[in-house]
Amino acid sequence: MLDCAIIGGGPAGLTAGLYTTRGGLRNVTMFETGMPGGQITQSSEIENYPGFFEHDKTGMDFMDGWQKQCFHFGLKHEMKKVERVAKTGEYFIVTLEGGETAEAKTVIVCTGSTPKRAGFKGEDAFFGKGVSTCATCDGFFYKGKPVTVLGGGDTALEEAYYLSNIVSDVYLVHRRDTFRAAPSTVERVMKKENIHPVLDSVVDEVLGDAMGVTSVRVKNVKTNETKILETPGLFVFVGHDVNNGVLKDVNSGFICEMNDWGQVKVDLSMRTSVEGLFAAGDLRIEAPKQVVVAAGDGATAALQVISYIQEQA
Ligand code: FAD
Ligand code: NAP
Repeated sequence: MLDCAIIGGGPAGLTAGLYTTRGGLRNVTMFETGMPGGQITQSSEIENYPGFFEHDKTGMDFMDGWQKQCFHFGLKHEMKKVERVAKTGEYFIVTLEGGETAEAKTVIVCTGSTPKRAGFKGEDAFFGKGVSTCATCDGFFYKGKPVTVLGGGDTALEEAYYLSNIVSDVYLVHRRDTFRAAPSTVERVMKKENIHPVLDSVVDEVLGDAMGVTSVRVKNVKTNETKILETPGLFVFVGHDVNNGVLKDVNSGFICEMNDWGQVKVDLSMRTSVEGLFAAGDLRIEAPKQVVVAAGDGATAALQVISYIQEQA
């Protein structure tokens, strides 16, 4: 019986692993479908993690020490995909790909969420080289320069607003002539003089060279006319897939409470609506989707796990 099963080995999962093991739990396993490190390993640079200010280090370099540190304190790692988590009586059954199971007293789910891709030409090739899904992470790289933002939902408009305080101009490209975002957000964004809506339009192709993006070709879906936006940055905000599949129950519902967007409802201690089940990082409600926050969530959940196990003993 595991003291704690951690699902997902990004910043939240690794930090939960560090705090549970260093806090005295002996039997903690982190299940991670790939190599540990999480989404940030796709990044070519990280500038906003406090205390880490090394321009020549990639996200992969950044996460390397995290794994070593947790394994040093006794975290076990199984490179396996988790299919399901279920609670039977006081304990949890974690079902792995292939049908194998593990029993655990507590579970911390740290499976993250994945920004959706829009599907235009060049999106994958220039991802991380001018195409971004994170304004907080990458906005600063375009200080004083123009950028394009794609999307018409709350995220796109809020991020366009955030970017407009850093960059010179924001071209806000949306495929319809009305925004999906809340009216109050639309009103606030439309008041910003350096945000320029490009409506009824989609990104046709992102253009660039070996150094990265140089411009964005957009197409009006009503007239088929195309035009070039000379922006070295393109921010794509067309929704997220929350990686909540492990929490689905047999009736296509969820074993714990979720919000309308499939994010796990937690309290400030990362407790879900099910005793002994915690969620940390990008898949929880109101996640700022930043490494520093995911790590903090992982630590918070781990400390709660230790208290929970002590109370149950
Ligand atoms: P994730 O990092 O998404 O980790 C989740 C892990 O769970 C993954 O490793 C995944 O393989 C695993 N997993 C998923 N499902 C299962 C399953 N069923 N079974 C087993 N394992 C599973 N943030 C910053 O603070 N600063 C930045 O500069 C920055 N830049 C970024 C650049 C890029 C290109 C990207 C994509 C993100 C960036 N972010 C940045 C955001 C940051 O990476 C995330 O906020 C952070 O990684 C979230 O951590 P997490 O542990 O919640 O989830
Ligand atoms: P979203 O509401 O699903 O919006 C996605 C946007 O991207 C839509 O405008 C959509 O266009 C557009 N889009 C989707 N696929 C596209 C494609 N392939 N090419 C071009 N455009 C595409 O996603 P979100 O903005 O991330 O928000 C997710 C949920 O979180 C929403 O319910 C939102 O209200 C909520 N949220 C709330 C807040 C807040 O309350 N402060 C903040 C952020 C998010 P269409 O409009 O034409 O479909």
